[in-house]
Amino acid sequence: MPATGGSPRPTEVKLGLLPGAGGTQRLPRATDLETAINMIVSGEARRASTFAGTALVDAVVDGELLPAALAFAEKVAAEARPLRRLRDRTVIEPQAEALLQFARNSVRAAAKSLPAPLQCVEAVAAAASQPFDEGMKLERAAFLQLMNTPESRALRHVFAAERLASKVEGLPADTPLREVRKVGVVGAGTMGGGITMAFVNAGFAVVLLEANQAALDKGLATIGRNYASSLSKGKISQQQLDQRLALIRPTLRYEDFGDVDLVIEAVFEDLEAKKTVFETLDKVVRAGAILASNTSTLDLNRIAAFTKRPRDVIGLHFFSPANVMRLLEVVRGDKTAPEVLATAMQLAKRIKKVAVVSGVCDGFIGNRMLARYGAAANDLLNLGATPQQVDRALERFGMAMGIFRVGDLAGLDIGWAIRKRRGAEHPQEDLSSVGDRICEAGRFGQKTGAGWYRYEPGRRDPLPDPVVEQIIEQWRKERGYTPRKVSDQEIVERCIYALVNEGSQILEERIAQRASDIDIVYLNGYGFPAHRGGPMRYADEVGLPNVVRALRRIAAESPADAAHWTPVPLLLRLAEEGKTFS
Ligand code: NAD
Repeated sequence: MPATGGSPRPTEVKLGLLPGAGGTQRLPRATDLETAINMIVSGEARRASTFAGTALVDAVVDGELLPAALAFAEKVAAEARPLRRLRDRTVIEPQAEALLQFARNSVRAAAKSLPAPLQCVEAVAAAASQPFDEGMKLERAAFLQLMNTPESRALRHVFAAERLASKVEGLPADTPLREVRKVGVVGAGTMGGGITMAFVNAGFAVVLLEANQAALDKGLATIGRNYASSLSKGKISQQQLDQRLALIRPTLRYEDFGDVDLVIEAVFEDLEAKKTVFETLDKVVRAGAILASNTSTLDLNRIAAFTKRPRDVIGLHFFSPANVMRLLEVVRGDKTAPEVLATAMQLAKRIKKVAVVSGVCDGFIGNRMLARYGAAANDLLNLGATPQQVDRALERFGMAMGIFRVGDLAGLDIGWAIRKRRGAEHPQEDLSSVGDRICEAGRFGQKTGAGWYRYEPGRRDPLPDPVVEQIIEQWRKERGYTPRKVSDQEIVERCIYALVNEGSQILEERIAQRASDIDIVYLNGYGFPAHRGGPMRYADEVGLPNVVRALRRIAAESPADAAHWTPVPLLLRLAEEGKTFS
C-alpha cells in the first residue's frame, strides 16, 4: 500500500451506505474495534503508514507501488507463506460493550436523522459479537435497507450531480483551452480579496488593483489577517503564508495588467462602475486574455458590450467568502466563446471549486431563486409567523441556517438595494416587504448590531427582538393582514416549493442546463442539506404531483401573488406525465 494518497471517490457512509462486501466485518478484524468504527463512520481517508504492523497492510512502501508490490508478492510465493484469512481472526476488545455504547451515543447525537452512521456502528458491532458469516448476513441486510432510504438516494444523487455539472452542453470535450497562469483582480473588497486568495492558494500569481491606496491597503490588510488566522490555527505553515503573500502584486495602475491571462472584476455592483472598468480593461489587457465579472445580478451581455471583445467576456460568480465557498456560477454570455467557457470550467477545478454553468438573467440561478425564497419567507411573516419560527423550521428541515439569520449575517442592505433596483425596473410589481421597514429602521443585520434579530456587542447569537415584532405587527395592520397560526410544515412547504417553482422556470428558460445543476448550486452556495439532495431532487422525492397540489393551494390563498405560486408549465408537464426532474 503506498504511504500517501487519498480516495477520489466518497466513502460509503458519505453516500448514506455502509461498506458492504464485508468491509464492516473485515476492518475490525484487521485493525481493532475503535479504529474500524472511527474510519467507517467518518468516511475519512487515513495515511497507510498509520496501519504499519496491523493485519490491514503487509508492507508500506514509499515511491513506486507496482515494483514494490511485485517484489513483495514474489517473496511471499518463494517463502510459500500460508494464506492468512481475516475471517479467521477474532476481534479482541475487552471493553467492547462500553466502547460500542459510547459510539452509539455520540453517533446518534452527531448524525441526527441520518440512518447510515448508526447502521455502520451496528454492523461493526456484529463483527465483535458474532461469527464472520453471521456478521456478513447482518451487513448485507443493513446495506439493502440503507440503499432504499431517501437519504442515501439523495446523497448518491449529489455525487452524480457534481460530476455531471462539469459537462457543458454543446461544448465538445476537445474544445481548445486558453492558458491561464497570471490573474488580475479589480477591487480588493470582500469579494476581490477572497477571489485573490482562492487563486493564490492554488499557486496563481495575482495582480490586485484598487481605485486608491487606502482601499488597497485595507484589502491587503484583510488578506493578511485571514492568512495570519489560518497560520495560528495550524492550517498553513509560515512558509506557505510567505509564499502566498509573495504571489500577490498590489497595484493602482492598469498597465500592470499587461501580461495577465484572466482579469476578474469585483468592484461595486453598479453598471456604470463596471462600464468604466471594462472599457479600460479592453484597452490595456492583451488580446486573447479572458475578461470576467463577478457581478451577482447585472446583465453580463451588457457588460460584454462595453468591450470590443465580447467573445472573451464571461461571468465568474463567486460566493462569499470566495476563498472558502466551493460554488462558482460560470455565466455564459450570448457571445462568450466556447474556449473561454471551457477554460473557465477547467480553471474552476484548478482552484478547487464546483462550477455550474448559468445563462444570463437577473440573479443567475442561485440569487434568482433566492429572491423567491426570500419573498416566501417574508410572506410567512405577513401570515403570522415570526422570523425565529421560520428560521427554526428551516433549520429543522436541514438548512445550514434559517433565511433571516442568513440575511443578518450577509447584510440586509444588499438585498434591499437589489429590491429597489428591481422595483424601479418593474414598476408594475409590488416588491415591498416588511424587510424594507427593517432596513428603513437602520437595521442591516450583525454589522449594525440589529436586523431581524438583535445582537449583544461582540456576539453573534441571534436574540429575538420585540422591536421587530412591533415593526411586523404595524406592517400587517397597514396591509390588512390578520395573523393566524402557521405550522412548521407550511413554512417548509412555502419556502422550498418557492425554490422548486422558480427552479422549474429557470430550467424551462434554459438558464440552467439540468435540474441537478440547480441542486449543486443550492447545496454548495446556500446551505441546502446534502441528505435532501437539493431542492429539485427533494421535489422528486416528495412527488411532483404533490408539489403541484401544494403550489396550487398556496396560489389560491395568495391572490396578489398567484403568478409566482402557479406551477410553471415544465413542472406541470412532468407531474402530469408521471416523470421526475432527474
Ligand atoms: P465591496 O464594496 O466589498 O468591494 C468593492 C471594492 O471595489 C472596493 O474595495 C472599492 O474600493 C473597489 N472599487 C470600486 N471601484 C473601483 C474601480 N473603478 N477600480 C478598482 N477598484 C474599485 O463589494 P463586494 O461585496 O466585494 O462586491 C463586489 C462585486 O462582487 C459586486 O459586483 C457584487 O455584486 C459581487 N458579489 C458580491 C458578493 C457578496 O456576498 N458580497 C457575492 C458575490 C458577488
